[in-house]
Amino acid sequence: MSNIGFIGLGIMGAPMAAHLIKAGHDVFLNTRSKIPNDLLTGSATACASPREVAERADIIFMMLPDTPDVDKVLFEGNGVAAGLSKGKTVVDMSSISPMDTKTFAQKINALGADYLDAPVSGGEVGAKAASLTIMVGGPDAVFERVKPLFELMGKNITLVGGNGDGQTCKVANQIIVALNIAAVGEALLFASKAGADPAKVRQALMGGFAASRILEVHGERMIKRTFAPGFRIGLHQKDLNLALNGARALGVALPQTAGAAQLMQVCSANGMQDLDHSALVRSLELMANHQVAEG
Ligand code: NAD
Repeated sequence: MSNIGFIGLGIMGAPMAAHLIKAGHDVFLNTRSKIPNDLLTGSATACASPREVAERADIIFMMLPDTPDVDKVLFEGNGVAAGLSKGKTVVDMSSISPMDTKTFAQKINALGADYLDAPVSGGEVGAKAASLTIMVGGPDAVFERVKPLFELMGKNITLVGGNGDGQTCKVANQIIVALNIAAVGEALLFASKAGADPAKVRQALMGGFAASRILEVHGERMIKRTFAPGFRIGLHQKDLNLALNGARALGVALPQTAGAAQLMQVCSANGMQDLDHSALVRSLELMANHQVAEG
């Protein structure tokens, strides 16, 4: 059994930490919000700061919203870096900037500690079911050491490459998901406006080449109008900004990603940034003055 730290206990982090606790590890917890009561069982301990987590744990996981949050948790006064010592490992499972991740890894390595970036896909459902896809960047030997812990949280676990490559893979994932949501939204809106039952259209399409997890899960959300998160629009905007900033730096055009980012901006401008990203369909509905289904 290892001493494990977990910082950031929101929609994703709380169920992920719960799997590590359930497996019998000693888990040291810290989060900005209140630690959920159901996590504070036998082998879990609340810590006052990220620094205390790093002092008491050998492998420290983070599941935080955005790049500045990870920067703060790692390097501010009472941050992880202040509590690290040689041989410890930091594993960032948040979805953040690939470029900044390389810098964070170098700074942590300079303290004698190892670093993995290991963002995930699969959402709250995957976090609860321990079936997350985990995309890892970092040294092979460190990956092998942490892998048994990843296996408590996920199923499809891939070492993509060096530090930053896990985050790059996650950005690619978010491009595909955003464009898929926009495609499903446009298709269901078109069908509904034409007078077809969008539920029947979704059911028919689920058997063909257009079938996808997004059509299945988010198509149903659009029809049933269940937009509670899940994955917040504000967080997906963050990911698309990572894609577009990266593309600008690389001199690459991502026109469809730019379009999806604009639709998410419409949602945020209309107060929907905390709804699930399937609510991207609302931006299309506003333009069409027509809803896929009654809400
Ligand atoms: P969330 O907002 O629900 O949780 C974030 C947690 O971080 C909160 O508990 C907050 O208290 C904590 N936190 C923030 N700043 C902190 C600080 N300075 N010190 C300690 N704790 C701090 O977000 P989430 O939905 O769990 O997402 C977390 C990450 O996972 C994001 O990068 C997101 O893009 C990614 N992600 C989310 C999903 C999803 O479906 N929700 C899916 C895949 C990946």
